[in-house]
Amino acid sequence: MNYIDIIDKLEENELEMFEKDLKEGYVQKYIERKKEFFKIKNKTCPVCGNNVREDCFVLIWGEPSIRKKAHFCGIDCLNYFIEQFINKRIKTQKIENKKEMLENKGIKNRSKKK
Ligand SMILES: [Zn+2]
Repeated sequence: MNYIDIIDKLEENELEMFEKDLKEGYVQKYIERKKEFFKIKNKTCPVCGNNVREDCFVLIWGEPSIRKKAHFCGIDCLNYFIEQFINKRIKTQKIENKKEMLENKGIKNRSKKK
């Protein structure tokens, strides 16, 4: 359907409302939302592989230059993903702490009080 056909079907008051919304930027905002929906349309959930719906959960993380985005079909998949993410972080943190501890032992050769 052409957008001219849609405008043709509007009654006078609807046309005035549309014109008002267009001038005030609401139409543009709606177009942006709709475009965002089309971006979501063909996404799959990284946890279960199902296609996600419009009301899916979206997670955005990372530094601006390496920003990552994932779409989840449900809160259970989002929760699972976050749990895995945290576990990975804790493991990495433990390895880094161990490295740091070994380095401190080697260089300073004294015990730290906490
Ligand atoms: Zn899922």
